[in-house]
Amino acid sequence: MNYYSTKNKCITATLEEGVKWGMAPDGGLYMPQRFHVLTRRELEEVRKSRSLAETGWLIAQKMFGDDLPSGVLKALVEEALNFDTPVVQVSEKIHALELFHGPTLAFKDVGARFMARLLQYYNRNNDRLVHVLVATSGDTGSAVANGFLNIPGIKVHVLYPSGQVSPLQEKQFTTLGGNITALEVDGSFDDCQALVKQAFADEALRSEMVLTSANSINLARFLPQAFYYFRGWAQLDADELVIAVPSGNFGNLTAGLVAREMGLPVQIFLAASNANDVVPAYLETGKYTPRKSVRTIANAMDVGAPSNFERVLDLFGHKHERITAHLKGYRYSDEQIREIISTVQRQTGYILDPHGATGYEASRTYLENHPGTTAMFLGTAHPAKFPEVVNELTENKLQSPEKLLNIIKGKKVSEYISSAYSDFRHYLENIS
Ligand SMILES: *Cc1c(COP(=O)(O)O)cnc(C)c1O
Repeated sequence: MNYYSTKNKCITATLEEGVKWGMAPDGGLYMPQRFHVLTRRELEEVRKSRSLAETGWLIAQKMFGDDLPSGVLKALVEEALNFDTPVVQVSEKIHALELFHGPTLAFKDVGARFMARLLQYYNRNNDRLVHVLVATSGDTGSAVANGFLNIPGIKVHVLYPSGQVSPLQEKQFTTLGGNITALEVDGSFDDCQALVKQAFADEALRSEMVLTSANSINLARFLPQAFYYFRGWAQLDADELVIAVPSGNFGNLTAGLVAREMGLPVQIFLAASNANDVVPAYLETGKYTPRKSVRTIANAMDVGAPSNFERVLDLFGHKHERITAHLKGYRYSDEQIREIISTVQRQTGYILDPHGATGYEASRTYLENHPGTTAMFLGTAHPAKFPEVVNELTENKLQSPEKLLNIIKGKKVSEYISSAYSDFRHYLENIS
């Protein structure tokens, strides 16, 4: 199957090209030309599946069956999805789909692990090292670095702003070693991004080394996220289901819309935002006005111009009334997010993270007017990743999983560079 650019349907790529290029040459995002809709019998099979890998394999055959040999796809799915995404009941009608049981305790593990193995496969006949450059403000770096850890033929270079990521986030990509190098940049996140962009635009450099990006618009990170929507539905088996998605760049939510195109029985999606509310504002007014992001305690959702929104518009033919039929928007201030975490812990004992909290509250609000419905919100990260916010709100009942404790114990190793391109280029020349 081919993938077209959201800017021009005549511009197409194979899966391999789409994954290697990331963005279409005209600056659009790739979308599948067709969605294979699951038959009733196939949906029944999905409903009976018992792990994320099993569900993922059923959906992956429909999604990538034309693109990859079946044995390759099966092995890839099983290796990438080696953890589950359990559904946990929080209150009578509200359930959490916990996406944080992978190595970095956030949902981005799913897409990053899938992408790493797909790139390894496409690179199998190439004896040149592939260099993945990734700029991060915190969470993306750890998911990508862990996803690619120990993948042969690939080296990852994580650029992050010195002093501007949390100590825990920093540990998640500076303690890995192996094929992962952390570059601590004397500058801001924007400086890191600018360095990566300059490297990609550097023709001379690119004639010497193979460079790839692994950002969240990449097809190989975006599409596999549809798997866990089916996995969540299979565990809940509710007749009237709504799904709430804590959103920033809207890749996660758009993957839910893809699952719906493929036949996932869901009534409506709830887009939960923090103070960065361009999408809820669009849903209310029909006007889309991207702007600079503001900082919040749900910082992985601090996005002022959500890159995947173009995919949402494309899916629904840019028709506001079609979009609002499938998507309802909610927004929460930091103060409200704190209140939600504290109230839910007191009333139910369940500890939310600042991102999941927005999804919980969107579910609760929606159910007030739709009592016959069952809600599932995506728990996008483990609450122990945000101890500075969550601890005091939950009477210090927060427990860190073993995985996190091991990361904290690790020794930080990074290379310090200035924000001048010449320094970064020098570093790259020396490793190639
Ligand atoms: C990345 C992230 C989000 C936002 O996901 P998008 O796909 O960008 O909308 C939400 N919560 C957490 C914890 C994240 O890391």
